[in-house]
Amino acid sequence: MSGYSQISFETRMDSVEFRVAERAHITVDDTLCRDCSVRGCITACPANLFVPTSDGGIVFNYEQCFECGACSLACNTEGAIDWSYPEGGHGVVFHKT
Ligand code: SF4
Ligand code: SF4
Repeated sequence: MSGYSQISFETRMDSVEFRVAERAHITVDDTLCRDCSVRGCITACPANLFVPTSDGGIVFNYEQCFECGACSLACNTEGAIDWSYPEGGHGVVFHKT
């Protein structure tokens, strides 16, 4: 087996830097998430950016996104995730190692 799951979360997050754009490149429609029982985004995201709330919603933070696209593939609800790359010059800027 290979992939990000073999790398510790701390090492994973420490391997990149982010230039955060003011505008979110990914948005999540939390109202659609409330009817979702699969919640594939939570396990798919290597940066742990999808966090379930106690009232059935999802909190999402775009700032440390790896731009991998896994959340969009994992989401089973059309329209819940609006996905795009960050504006030019923003997002993941380089790997330290
Ligand atoms: S998988 Fe899609 S609909 Fe379900 S919680 Fe995640 S973003 Fe929302
Ligand atoms: S694109 Fe990848 S890193 Fe960014 S929010 Fe989706 S799963 Fe997480």
